[in-house]
Amino acid sequence: MNELIMIKYGELTTKKDNRKQFIKILTQNIERLIEEKYEIIKDNSRMYIKCDDAINISKKLQKIFGIHGISIVYKVNNNFDDVSQKALSIMDKTKKTFKVVTKRADKDFEISSMDYSRKIGGLILKNSEYKVDVHNPDIILNIEIRKEGTYIYTDELKGAGGYPVGVQGKGLLMLSGGIDSPVAGYLAMKRGVNVECIYFDSPPHTSVEAKNKVKKLAKIINEYSGLVKLHIVPFTKIQEEIYKNCPDNYMITIMRRMMYRITEKYAKKIKAKIIINGESIGQVASQTLDSIACINEVTNMPVIRPVATYDKLEIIDIAKKIDTYETSILPYEDCCTIFVPKHPVIKPELIKAKEYEKAFDYEKLIEESIENIKVITDFKEDKFEDLL
Ligand code: ATP
Ligand code: MG
Repeated sequence: MNELIMIKYGELTTKKDNRKQFIKILTQNIERLIEEKYEIIKDNSRMYIKCDDAINISKKLQKIFGIHGISIVYKVNNNFDDVSQKALSIMDKTKKTFKVVTKRADKDFEISSMDYSRKIGGLILKNSEYKVDVHNPDIILNIEIRKEGTYIYTDELKGAGGYPVGVQGKGLLMLSGGIDSPVAGYLAMKRGVNVECIYFDSPPHTSVEAKNKVKKLAKIINEYSGLVKLHIVPFTKIQEEIYKNCPDNYMITIMRRMMYRITEKYAKKIKAKIIINGESIGQVASQTLDSIACINEVTNMPVIRPVATYDKLEIIDIAKKIDTYETSILPYEDCCTIFVPKHPVIKPELIKAKEYEKAFDYEKLIEESIENIKVITDFKEDKFEDLL
């Protein structure tokens, strides 16, 4: 283990207990997601990983929330000769201008950070063709002096930011095969939510391909946490009853109310604290503010809609960045597109929705659906044929 990676924490709060929890969960997430055993050394401001393939591991670390910056670093003793020698040896000769930034965690150190930077800078000027540019340098030489040694590095990869997945407890994401909901899940994860997914499946009206697409999306967002489970709800009966018993224009409203009822009940069962959803204000008839209010009425659980205020193009940008876009646009219908009424109501009235849904015994069907939920926990293998 000859190489060393240094991690700067993301949005770390100053509260001591939170900080401890943050670092503990981040460590667990790193161990789970890089899938190999490495020595991890951590203190309150930095984490270090001893490894052999630092470039590869740095890339994996870029997907882990709670990390602000990732650098491959060199550790030397705190004496000036060792530091300057190492500094000179790692300066990339293809670059032309530089500046030195010194940080001292060890305030007892005899010389100021500025003077230290100047001294090292002077040596580099003397021993190379480099010129100093403090405003826009080609390369920044970072020197962090700590009690146990001095860390030297020139490059920093941007981390994913946010909080480590899990610091906030669990949330249940309503995951459809579309573009929005995987993005919503990713954004919730970024705030530290341990996201599990629920999908409403209506065979034979929806295809195995549609379900496999959702599994694939769950697999992709699982790369950001390693904790994702996909809960698949048999929804056919409920959907058929809605189709038989409710007026066309209220079908979607009522279907969504059923989805929320099931999601809330099931969330409580798996100890999720919130529901996460990919709704975006005004995107379709079921997402006008009136619709959202009428649909949301069935639940008291907090519903977080991370993309509620985003334009479709903004959502697509994120979907591309997190690699879900190509899968999301595969052309398989889901349960919402198959029973699409010609004129879904834009301003649904709660009294009417309640009246229409009385037409069938949905409580019983909801219980039945929940009892028959199937769970997928292993996304490692790419066998996306119909498993269930
Ligand atoms: P997406 O919003 O993910 O792009 P979509 O646009 O097809 O998919 P909408 O009809 O906009 O989906 O539904 C709004 C939200 O309702 C989805 O983002 C998702 O959170 C939830 N949802 C819709 N259909 C399903 C389903 N079959 N299973 C689970 N959640 C669903
Ligand atoms: Mg949508």
